Amino acid sequence: MKQTAGRDQLGDTAPKFAELNDDVLFGQIWERKDILSLRDRSVITITSLITSGIIDNSLKYHIQNAKNNGVTKTEMAEIITHLAFYAGWPKAWAAFPIFKEVYSSDSSSRSYTPLFGIGSPNSEYSEYFTGQSYINPLNKNVMGIYNVTFEPGCRNNWHIHHKGGQILLCTDGEGIYQEWSKSPIRLHPGDVVYIAPEIKHWHGASSDSWFAHIAIEIPADGAYNEWLEKVDNEQYTLICEKGK
Ligand code: MN
Repeated sequence: MKQTAGRDQLGDTAPKFAELNDDVLFGQIWERKDILSLRDRSVITITSLITSGIIDNSLKYHIQNAKNNGVTKTEMAEIITHLAFYAGWPKAWAAFPIFKEVYSSDSSSRSYTPLFGIGSPNSEYSEYFTGQSYINPLNKNVMGIYNVTFEPGCRNNWHIHHKGGQILLCTDGEGIYQEWSKSPIRLHPGDVVYIAPEIKHWHGASSDSWFAHIAIEIPADGAYNEWLEKVDNEQYTLICEKGK
């Protein structure tokens, strides 16, 4: 994740602080995932903020971040309850409204935590999906890498990755992949799908399971996605029933 909050807010007034915030704190420290996970770093950060009595937008940002990094609603309530005894009762009271606001915003995603984080509702592409999907950008340097999570029954429209193609790395639940005029393929964690350029296809969850994959956009000059018709409902139902 490329952090720009420092430069956005303080780039003119305190350029060194902005640089340290974006490049060192978020660019280097947070990125050392091999030493401490993002989830652990989120918990530590929230604990420090609440303990210091910093109950502002930065706490809201970090609670949202913790949610994206896999801290469930139940766990977050327990974290704040626990630290009330060490940090002070009023600080926990003050933090709960922010916690409630973050964790009630998209209730359907609470119960599901994919390996690479659920991110946020995929509203930008919702017209090309049936059902609710979520997107978590993992990398935007050189190539786009996104974690895409599908609620049960959710799938994208038929589409074509022109010129570049796409690779899917399946991480959670059970999904389906189908190329035009070919049989559908069931997907499970650990499966890898290479989608050549110009191949018409769709992917998504099965009707009774959440599903998440990492989508890697293979870079190419002039690469673009062409979104086509929805997957036929009857066809989809038939595919899902056949797999049982
Ligand atoms: Mn695709």
